[in-house]
Amino acid sequence: MREKYTAVIGLEVHAQLSLQRKMFAPEVAAYGALPNTQVSTVTLAHPGTLPRINKQAVDCAIKMGLACHSVITRESIFARKSYFYPDLPKGYQITQDKTPICREGYLTIDTPEGCEKHIALERIHLEEDAGKSLHDLVEGETLLDFNRAGVALIEIVTKPVLRTPVEAYSLLGEIRKLVRYLNICDGNMEEGSLRCDANVSVMLQDSSIFGKRVEVKNMNSMRHVQLAIEYEIGRQIAVLDRGDMVVSETRSYNAATNTTQPMRTKELLKDYRYFPEPDLPPLVVSERWIEGLRESMPLLSRAYHKKFMDIYQLPAYDATVLSEDRDTALYFDELCQLTKHYKAASNWVMGPVRAYLNELTLSIRTFPLPPLILAELISLVEQGQLSFSTASQKLYPALLNQPEKGVWALARTLDLFQESDTTKIQALVDEVMAVYPDKIAAYRNGKKGILGMLMGEVMKRSQGKVAPKVANSLLLQSLEATQDHGIVS
Ligand code: ADP
Ligand code: MG
Repeated sequence: MREKYTAVIGLEVHAQLSLQRKMFAPEVAAYGALPNTQVSTVTLAHPGTLPRINKQAVDCAIKMGLACHSVITRESIFARKSYFYPDLPKGYQITQDKTPICREGYLTIDTPEGCEKHIALERIHLEEDAGKSLHDLVEGETLLDFNRAGVALIEIVTKPVLRTPVEAYSLLGEIRKLVRYLNICDGNMEEGSLRCDANVSVMLQDSSIFGKRVEVKNMNSMRHVQLAIEYEIGRQIAVLDRGDMVVSETRSYNAATNTTQPMRTKELLKDYRYFPEPDLPPLVVSERWIEGLRESMPLLSRAYHKKFMDIYQLPAYDATVLSEDRDTALYFDELCQLTKHYKAASNWVMGPVRAYLNELTLSIRTFPLPPLILAELISLVEQGQLSFSTASQKLYPALLNQPEKGVWALARTLDLFQESDTTKIQALVDEVMAVYPDKIAAYRNGKKGILGMLMGEVMKRSQGKVAPKVANSLLLQSLEATQDHGIVS
């Protein structure tokens, strides 16, 4: 049944900007403060007060636009969107309507087939957040917290170009990664600093006319967005298959039942009565302003991904993991300025480093070992002075406790260095050869498997200290020599 249909999906993503102040009002915009302690008269639109544009919010929106290859609008005006809702103290929201700060552009996602797909954007605009209604704190009552009212947001709106729930999930992941790289939003969906509404419709496979769209709200994780869209597609297909029509409406996702329920029929656009905000002047963005921001743009995850693959020759998987967040990418990139063993460096960061950070839920920013120390560790292993297991299981944990001791001193104190002096290793080999003449004869008669046992003996006698590669080759040499000797005599 499903094959008959194609789904059409467009996302509207709100990202709360990590700024000190609100979008148009002077008060602090910190998350988690006591209810209604961060509300000025501007936010409440008391007579005589006037909003003022927070320049830093404009910076954030432009940066996002530049990262998305959007056109930056040089002169935009804010609009007043009027509606009644208890959490909206002014009775209207200041937003952008006809002239969003950024237009068009695209974001790139990786499809499950391993291709890149450009997802076209409609717009990115600036607006203020509403307050919060709290329904569960007091039985039978709704409490209002206006701290969030007026907090700066950007809304990223895609064109209806997504086709599957997985694509929507990837796009949201890409947006989250980007806002974090740009350091403009913490990207936390659970706390609501990143919110996503999904517009979903279905149409017959070969149709070119979109179906009626339904807007789904109230998903508070990326996974829920994917599940909500999956459910909604199935529901709409069932409606059509029954011969009914899909109703344009807003539906709410219920995570407990993994279903969507009607909230309200879609308000007609004219209901909002958008009109130019009379209390704000037009926002004029100069070329210099844009160029300044362009120059300040950090390298973004896709650029790091490419660098890690092209320059450091890493597999795609490593490049993805290491470019997932900016701090990890920066750390790894710095590490690669200090060692040329890129794959070993990647294994260290993805293995022991991440294990430590995950266990203590730390960010790599607070990782006790600077890249230089890790580079020294890698170099000791690569030069054969330390086995990887000794380095990662003994020296590394010791270093985490006492990073100031330094790699060399600590390895010496803990007596971890491998013996790679061939004369000393040869002496051990000779000792073992002398103890097991019968085994050597067996080896000579073709039981090559004996080598492992003899190696084990050499390692044991050195208390695991000899460099295995060196010991192995010396042992082989001696065994082959014995054989030659046997033939000659
Ligand atoms: P509104 O605020 O009324 O929801 P927006 O313009 O902000 O309108 O958002 C429209 C969103 O709906 C966009 O993401 C767009 O891609 C998407 N969309 C438009 N038409 C369809 C459709 N037929 N099916 C699915 N999504 C659609
Ligand atoms: Mg909408």
